[in-house]
Amino acid sequence: MSNKSCESCLMPLSKDPGKSGSDTYCSYCFKDGKLCYEGTDLKEFQQRAYEGMRARGMGKLQATLFAWMIRFAPRWRKQR
Ligand SMILES: [Zn+2]
Repeated sequence: MSNKSCESCLMPLSKDPGKSGSDTYCSYCFKDGKLCYEGTDLKEFQQRAYEGMRARGMGKLQATLFAWMIRFAPRWRKQR
């Protein structure tokens, strides 16, 4: 198992329950050969990620923390 993380949301790829077909992004961010969210708005992406994590049963505190961490992902870091 590699210990790489998704460059869009920082989820460890080893924990990805799906198959993204990419070794850069997880299956939540990348599907059918393209990014699910193609926008460049970090806040909007964080909101979507938060809702996705909550929908998958994650607690509020943890989802808030993970969504906040997204700002450090390579995809968003290079915007600043
Ligand atoms: Zn991801």
